[in-house]
Amino acid sequence: MKIRLAAPLQSDSVVDGFGIRTVIWTQGCSHNCPFCQNPQTHDFNGGCEYDVLEIKKEIKNLKNQDGITFSGGDPLFQVDATLELAKYAKSIGLNVWCYTGFLFEDIIKMGKNNSNYTELLNYIDVLVDGKFINELKDLNLLFRGSSNQRLIDVPETLKKNKIVLIPENDNIINNFLSSKAEVYI
Ligand code: SF4
Repeated sequence: MKIRLAAPLQSDSVVDGFGIRTVIWTQGCSHNCPFCQNPQTHDFNGGCEYDVLEIKKEIKNLKNQDGITFSGGDPLFQVDATLELAKYAKSIGLNVWCYTGFLFEDIIKMGKNNSNYTELLNYIDVLVDGKFINELKDLNLLFRGSSNQRLIDVPETLKKNKIVLIPENDNIINNFLSSKAEVYI
């Protein structure tokens, strides 16, 4: 199986979710959000194609990362490969964040025609959903560009069958970061 990426894996990011993360920059997006920050990732024929097995090996060799983050582009346009990599990351103890221009509700609907969309949700810890809307841009937002976008706690959302957001207060963030600090000191 192949995946088209806009760039090689990027480790040690601290701006794409809690903790220290490796970002998988997928290539291809047709949401066309005005003022998108990554227009070079839109072309479905752009970037480079990689073997998913090779990306798995790279993920296996990561050091001192809390998790992986799918970004782009929109990873949902390559749902089969994204699912494969998300499953693998979870199997070796990494947590998984995923950015998408689709809404959580869209993904549930898309899953009716292709169950890989809904299966993918089982391997995502946090989904950052929704298009970027420039009028709602806010530089103070945590891990997202515009206030319509949601940080969705996917396991809790699936359990409760209603959207559950990640609480955004300093205690939660500090607790998370200090618990990770113990691991790395
Ligand atoms: S979904 Fe993301 S990559 Fe796609 S156009 Fe919107 S902001 Fe850009």
